[in-house]
Amino acid sequence: MADAETFAFQAEINQLLSLIINTFYSNKEIFLRELISNASDALDKIRFESLTDKSKLDAQPELFIRLVPDKANKTLSIIDSGIGMTKADLVNNLGTIARSGTKEFMEALQAGADVSMIGQFGVGFYSAYLVAEKVIVTTKHNDDEQYIWESQAGGSFTVTRDVDGDQLGRGTKITLFLKEDQLEYLEERRIKDLVKKHSEFISYPIYLWTEKTTEKEISDDEDDEPKKAEEGDVEEVDEEKEKEKGKKKKIKEVSHEWQVINKQKPIWLRKPEEITKDEYASFYKSLTNDWEDHLAVKHFSVEGQLEFKAILFIPKRAPFDLFDSRKKMNNIKLYVRRVFIMDNCEELIPEYLGFVKGVVDSDDLPLNISREMLQQNKILKVIRKNLVKKCIEMFNEIAENKEDYNKFYDSFSKNLKLGIHEDSQNRSKLADLLRYHSTKSGDELTSLKDYVTRMKEGQKDIYYITGESKKAVENSPFLERLKKKGYEVLYMVDAIDEYAVGQLKEYDGKKLVSATKEGLKLDDETEEEKKKKEEKKKSFESLCKVMKDILGDRVEKVVTSDRIVESPCCLVTGEYGWTANMERIMKAQALRDSSMGSYMSSKKTMEINPDNGIMEELRKRGEVDKNDKSLKDLVLLLFETALLTSGFSLDDPNTFASRIHRMLKLGLSIEEDEAGEDDAEMPALDEECNEESKMEEVD
Ligand code: ADP
Ligand code: MG
Repeated sequence: MADAETFAFQAEINQLLSLIINTFYSNKEIFLRELISNASDALDKIRFESLTDKSKLDAQPELFIRLVPDKANKTLSIIDSGIGMTKADLVNNLGTIARSGTKEFMEALQAGADVSMIGQFGVGFYSAYLVAEKVIVTTKHNDDEQYIWESQAGGSFTVTRDVDGDQLGRGTKITLFLKEDQLEYLEERRIKDLVKKHSEFISYPIYLWTEKTTEKEISDDEDDEPKKAEEGDVEEVDEEKEKEKGKKKKIKEVSHEWQVINKQKPIWLRKPEEITKDEYASFYKSLTNDWEDHLAVKHFSVEGQLEFKAILFIPKRAPFDLFDSRKKMNNIKLYVRRVFIMDNCEELIPEYLGFVKGVVDSDDLPLNISREMLQQNKILKVIRKNLVKKCIEMFNEIAENKEDYNKFYDSFSKNLKLGIHEDSQNRSKLADLLRYHSTKSGDELTSLKDYVTRMKEGQKDIYYITGESKKAVENSPFLERLKKKGYEVLYMVDAIDEYAVGQLKEYDGKKLVSATKEGLKLDDETEEEKKKKEEKKKSFESLCKVMKDILGDRVEKVVTSDRIVESPCCLVTGEYGWTANMERIMKAQALRDSSMGSYMSSKKTMEINPDNGIMEELRKRGEVDKNDKSLKDLVLLLFETALLTSGFSLDDPNTFASRIHRMLKLGLSIEEDEAGEDDAEMPALDEECNEESKMEEVD
């Protein structure tokens, strides 16, 4: 026997192991599903390799999974003739390199999640320790010798070259030394039920090593006959007792045989109307390791020039790493004429649909197709187009049930929006699936379609406002005029909305117009009103100029506003530049190109409300003395508050704060000890303060 090398488990894996061992879970049975699923993955891998190189199967031509309960030794072994692991694989995959999901899984567990979720986090192997106190993994990869991995958890494992043991040829044998209270997993009945429950749709035969006892009468002279050529070994029991006076005798024969315990006919080849909901659910679970049923399923075949069958599923919730760019989504398994080819074919489905799971089985692709070929394959392009179409159909079906759709939208609205951004062909179909809160939707969400039905007479455009949260935009000054006119405004408060709406531009022939950007025209006033407004505008022209001079580069221009009713002023952005919300999003993205940032974000227009008392007062003062220092201070303060109410951030909060403090002191009539030059220069501030609602509390 070669020397054992000892390795320490990586810290997080070690933590995970103690959690698995020391916490009470009743649902331990899932370990078998996890180990069978690993076996099936390993078989998929070798089968795929063998498509291009038949000799890879030489060491063991048959592809199988075998389960061997051993009551005498209290062990259960799971054997597969899959790809096996090299020594390096063993060390890396089973203990020293943590998966991204390790920590997430532990957090989920501590938050009360079920252990059966383990497979989704990519650490299913360790579920073996739910039932075993010791695990031995014997494995043989085509490129290496046979090795043994062994561990009782407790911080370390050993790896040893296996010279003397039975040679596997190729594949992996996992032997679980069951805990005393877990011996139920040696029972034939229990194993069969489990396989039926969790692993029925594994596409390789799962054999169970079963024991059969039969009684037989034989006469003496038959005694020496060779035993029947049953597969497996045959033992005789109680022979001696039965040997009476050389006449007839009874013997008990215990025979063993391999019994196939799963159906292997792929479910997608069956007729949809003959498949029950439970069957879909259990297929879905075995496909995805999900512990919950699917939310929706679509089973279809495409015939004609090109033939393929597919089943697509929508999960009930998003996986923990939905938008983790390090992880390639591989949720659609590609088969060619029943043979599994790969599960990470990027050409099969666009990225934004990466959350859709399922299988596709093509009759037309060549079996030995390579990744390079897939990239330009025309057949694949057609399949992809069909899959997208069916997905959208499925989303619309979900939308027929409000509760389901809310669930779906909660989890995957970001994907739909990403789709709007990326998939120009399906943009308008995807737009039908969008839902938003709005000034009129209350607690419910509204679709664009419903919005259109509520549009006021004479309303040409669809209005929206973007921002950080519903709360942040609900009372925005930008909405004042629109609300007053009775126009509905959609709240787009998801970061990705900015991108999506930027691409969407219109819906049902109606322009999508931002309430916070320049060029918001609301024209249905009477001639008289228009004239009045023009006059007002004129009278404020000089103030606009004064303000622009004071604000300098901070704003592009200062104009009188059409959109605000209550607030004194607001800051709008160029029609084609970033909104305040976008600026916030981009600031949060450390890696953006900063030169682009300053270019895109610099165009702010200050809009002032001529009907507001503050503005009226400023106008008067500006006419008296446009160089009045207090006027300057007030304009800057207005600008800074407008930054905040318009959704921007303050570059220099301290200056803003000291301006406010000066006003507080004035409001409280506190004299400054020092030179107090500011006080002297802001004589009339008290009056202004009374109009600022913030200051009312102070007064
Ligand atoms: P996952 O299956 O999600 O990758 P697991 O914890 O179940 O996570 O398995 C970890 C890794 O160990 C697998 O990715 C695979 O590389 C390796 N492995 C586990 N079981 C087997 C097996 N029966 N044959 C070959 N490799 C295996
Ligand atoms: Mg696994």
